[in-house]
Amino acid sequence: MAQLSVQHVDKIYDNNVQAVFDFNLDVKDGELIVLVGPSGCGKSTTLRMIAGLEDISAGHLFLDGKEITQTPAKDRDMAMVFQNYALYGHMTIYENMAFSLTLRKENPNVIHKKVLAAAEILGLTSQLNKKPSQLSGGQRQRVAMGRSIVRNPKVFLFDEPLSNLDAKLRGATRREILLLHKRLQATMLYVTHDQTEALTLADRIVCMSMGHVQQVGTPLELYDSPANRFVASFIGLPPMNFFDATVREGELEGRGFRVKLSEEEKGILLPYAGKEIELGVRPEDVQGGGDIALNVFSNENLGMNTLVHGHIGDGELANRISAKLRGWYDYKEGDRVSVEFSRKHFFDKETGVAIGREVKA
Ligand code: ADP
Repeated sequence: MAQLSVQHVDKIYDNNVQAVFDFNLDVKDGELIVLVGPSGCGKSTTLRMIAGLEDISAGHLFLDGKEITQTPAKDRDMAMVFQNYALYGHMTIYENMAFSLTLRKENPNVIHKKVLAAAEILGLTSQLNKKPSQLSGGQRQRVAMGRSIVRNPKVFLFDEPLSNLDAKLRGATRREILLLHKRLQATMLYVTHDQTEALTLADRIVCMSMGHVQQVGTPLELYDSPANRFVASFIGLPPMNFFDATVREGELEGRGFRVKLSEEEKGILLPYAGKEIELGVRPEDVQGGGDIALNVFSNENLGMNTLVHGHIGDGELANRISAKLRGWYDYKEGDRVSVEFSRKHFFDKETGVAIGREVKA
């Protein structure tokens, strides 16, 4: 069992930089939480405070109901996997994986069993006598995970563990981490700047910007119902299109488009009648067949989809737009494609908060 509760945690570094503001999170037993956000938003700082590698400036941390705010890192029963693996080059894979247990002077038979079991889970059984330099990047990453597994910690912490791997290996290792999570049923916190990793790995995502939590929710909640413009722009690839739009009677009007609103949308936008809002439309929600004229700038074939970049509206006031059309097209610069918006998101222009959505963050 491992439940982690982070309550009102702040981090102010010695140089008076506040890196984290009022971070709150209850991690359930066996949950895989991904902290995601752009570089510098405070993800690593948060993880390091949880690990005990960084002091907490304010707030409280509880593990299984016991306060650990001041507990030294080595007594927190957590294991951290870093991006640079930090393996010992002169030791074999076996010795690397056994290292922390050897330090703790565990019984050699117990150590042996634990290392073999971890190697089995990670597919490293045939590599145990090799040195780290003889392994691929992906295998080394697995050894780093193996070192954590043998310790059987209450919580696994991952700090950008895949960022040194190439794209293909990242995908494969991501799937391994998922499998590992299923097998161990362990509580895990995982930090990444990569929204794809967040969407594919997380039970729940914590999306951060400039030290503040923007939204906590399942991948689908963040994708389908972003709390604000920041989350909407950060989650999803290619990123969401944003357009200024004025709320008219039954319609939304902007440069290059005039779209009808459903009854539900009309209700949501009632308080904004006559005002300007920001309309968000994901590229995959721009589809062929409507009465919006998209002027093509470039065309990228992705296989099942074609990514079309261009603009709607004319002249200097045109809106840039990306559309991910289902199917294979070979549009040329200057072509006109008729499109429509199949799903819309609305944001308050001043606050960026999503309109018509209960904010759960
Ligand atoms: P992320 O992991 O999201 O990239 P970090 O947690 O590493 O972000 O950093 C958050 C902010 O804290 C950044 O502005 C960074 O410059 C600052 N910061 C990180 N570590 C230190 C430190 N040791 N001393 C002072 N400021 C730091």
